[in-house]
Amino acid sequence: MLEISKVSYSYGGNSVFSDVSLNVAPGSFYFLTGPSGSGKTTFINLCAGALIPEIGSINVFGKDTQTMTSYDLSKMRQRLGIVHQNCEFLDHLSIEENIALPLSVAGLDSIKERANIFELMKWVGLHSKSKFKPEELSGGERQRAALARAVIMSPEIILADEPTGNVDWEMSQRLLTLLLELNKMGKTIFISTHDLSLVRLAKSKVKARTLRISNLKLSQAGADL
Ligand code: ADP
Ligand code: MG
Repeated sequence: MLEISKVSYSYGGNSVFSDVSLNVAPGSFYFLTGPSGSGKTTFINLCAGALIPEIGSINVFGKDTQTMTSYDLSKMRQRLGIVHQNCEFLDHLSIEENIALPLSVAGLDSIKERANIFELMKWVGLHSKSKFKPEELSGGERQRAALARAVIMSPEIILADEPTGNVDWEMSQRLLTLLLELNKMGKTIFISTHDLSLVRLAKSKVKARTLRISNLKLSQAGADL
């Protein structure tokens, strides 16, 4: 469902990836690790079609991101949810409206989806704060809201870029639990993180594969975790 073939990418001549290939199967659970600046966000943006490989190709649901029209991209984004590293929200909308935004972008009636939105807000523990503005939430609450927004369209793949980046350990565990639940429902989960405790905790609960970025390549991380 997500096929990365011989991909190279650089910013202004500075290579981030060279000849990287990966085949992500439906229902799998992946971690992408690597120090800050190693290319985790770049990789996620490539998978989401926000960046296009210079060499090689990325196929999502059987379509090459390079040849996707804006219509293809918007269709693809309904099936692939992203939790961005610095969860951006529209500040003038309530958190509930922000979470519902992908529905209106897809032309769905958010009034009809009310019950669904409420369930989702409850699931991430934000139902009592639905009318709050993004700036009125804590870092952890914003991360949970970003996760809710990423899953509102019930995507098949969830790409989460350091979803526990700004939160304490207890909140990290809670976010991980949500992602594990989604995986149990059959969703493919791909999490970038530099938090190895999170990876270890997940590995005690799910068959997670861990990839590490080093020397412009993705390698399978071994027993050192
Ligand atoms: P990570 O998410 O692992 O911290 P990034 O993917 O953000 O890493 O960045 C990988 C490398 O690419 C870094 O060296 C970073 O400085 C560089 N980089 C990222 N985005 C840009 C950009 N828009 N323009 C130029 N260089 C960039
Ligand atoms: Mg990053």
